[in-house]
Formats: sequence, C-alpha cells, structure tokens
Amino acid sequence: MNPTTPICPKCGYDQSGEIATWETQCPLEGRCPECGLDFAWCDVFDPVLNDLYWYSEHARSIWGMIWCTPRTLWMLALPHGFWREVDVVKRVSVFRLFAWALIIVAAMHLLVAILNGYVAWTQHNWSSRSWTLAQYLQEYRGHGVAEIIFDGFAYPYFNAVPQAYSSKWSLYITPGWSGAWYEYLIKPLVFETGFIMLWLIVLLAIPQSRRIAQIRSAHMIRAMILSVMILVLTYELTWLNRLVYELTINKMYWQLSRVVVPAAVIWQLVFWASAIGIGWRVRPWKLLVTLGTVAALLGGLALSIYVFLGSIS
Ligand SMILES: [Zn+2]
Repeated sequence: MNPTTPICPKCGYDQSGEIATWETQCPLEGRCPECGLDFAWCDVFDPVLNDLYWYSEHARSIWGMIWCTPRTLWMLALPHGFWREVDVVKRVSVFRLFAWALIIVAAMHLLVAILNGYVAWTQHNWSSRSWTLAQYLQEYRGHGVAEIIFDGFAYPYFNAVPQAYSSKWSLYITPGWSGAWYEYLIKPLVFETGFIMLWLIVLLAIPQSRRIAQIRSAHMIRAMILSVMILVLTYELTWLNRLVYELTINKMYWQLSRVVVPAAVIWQLVFWASAIGIGWRVRPWKLLVTLGTVAALLGGLALSIYVFLGSIS
C-alpha cells in the first residue's frame, strides 16, 4: 500500500474521492462512506502520529521492541484494555509485530529448554549413572554437552543417548515415550487451537460476517499473530509447570496447568470479542461476537473430541 494514499484506517477504503469534494476548507473530522467509521483526518494523513510509546509493534528498533515488552505483555493480559488502546486507527506493522512475537516465543522456549535439559539429565542420571554433573561432563565431554542441549529442546519427544563402541563415542537419537506427544503437546492445546481456528473461519471465510466486520486484513493479521502467540505461550507455561513438578516431586504438587489451560481459553474468548467490539469498532457487534464465540467454543470441543477419539483408537 502506498503510504501517501489516504485510506480509511478500518476498512482500507480509498478516501481520495472524499478529499476531491473539498473546495474551500478542510474539515477536521470525517466519516468513511464505506464502513461508516468516524475519524480525524490527521489519523488518515499521518497514522504515525498516533503511535503508542509503550507498544512493541510501534517501536522503531529491536531494542525499542524489547524495552516495550513488559508493558505490552502487561496490557495484553487484559485484552479489553489492550484493544481500547490499540484501536482501529492505530498503525498496523505486521512485520514488526511478527518479529516481536517470534522473539518472545524464542526467549520463553530457550528458558524452558535450559530447565528441560537439566531435568532430562537428572532423570537419566538417576536411572543409570548417579554422577555429579562435573563427573558426567568429564566422562562424556562434548557428547555429554550435546546430549543436554538436544534433550533440552526435544525431551521427552526424542531422547539423545551418548554411547561408546570400541572407545569411540557417538550420540544416539531415539524416539521418546510415544504417549508424550498427546499428553504434553496436544492435550493442553487442542481446545484453544480449535477455538482460534473457528474464529478465523468465521472472520475470513464466511462472507456474511466479513460484510458485518468490514475490516482490512492487516487488522485481522494483527489479532491472529497475538492470538497464536498466546497459544504457544500456553504450551510453554504448561511445560514449565511440568518441569517444576518433576524437580520438586514428592515435595510439592503444583498443578498450575489445570489453571493455565482454561485461563488461556477465557483470555482468547475476551480477546476476540474485544477485538471486534472495542478495537475494530464493528457496529453492530453483538450478533457477530455471539455467533463467533459460540462457533469457536464448538470448534474447540469438536477438535478435542476428534483428537481424543484418534488417541484411543
Ligand atoms: Zn472505512
């Protein structure tokens, strides 16, 4: 999109025709003839004016994005407040938001992987070796380090085992416990995944709801990136919870996952409803939000049942 083309911030309708009707004076306020959005003309001519100082998507550099991260996550925790600030006239920068979400997910994954490598090592050590970490690294050296790093990212889905044949070391990669994929990855995420999928179908594939929403795709992509980022973070949190539980087994039973998973679904519910009603200023919004939420809940349920039936057959 050419940045000098004046478009409606909500639906993307070209406002050149509207501007051509101005003869003697320029009004401050306008209304989009396509979607009916009331806006200030300065928002249309210079969207950067409205940039939010605390918001990572609006930061000008990688360091700016990281600097804004705590405040952005804090605002996202309450999605209705987030959408009140990041409304439809705020500039969308899909590339920067995507880069930020990748950084957040990668940082969280790295943190969890370090702990996971340690937990995998203690479990192997407990079952076969009972060494200190220093003894272990002295014996296995590079392969020992490689095992911990590999297991950090892949255990319990895959498992690396250093083995010696005629005094030559090598690292064997074996598949982990076959139930791990269902138990640790699919089960915590299936409902939330179905929920998001159905909202996307409602907003992207059904012409009637697209006509009610009248929203340009950049807004849709922004919501999608944030929603999927929270889905991935749900996984990281349940994983982190399991690791804490395994490290403190018999000392503390901390089933945070039972809270994290339903809380994430409630967050998604409020997030999508607020995007439509508050952020995107869809009018009327009640019918679309009700239908979309019901469809999304049914989508989550249907996918859960489908996956469950697949897991027992
Ligand atoms: Zn419009």
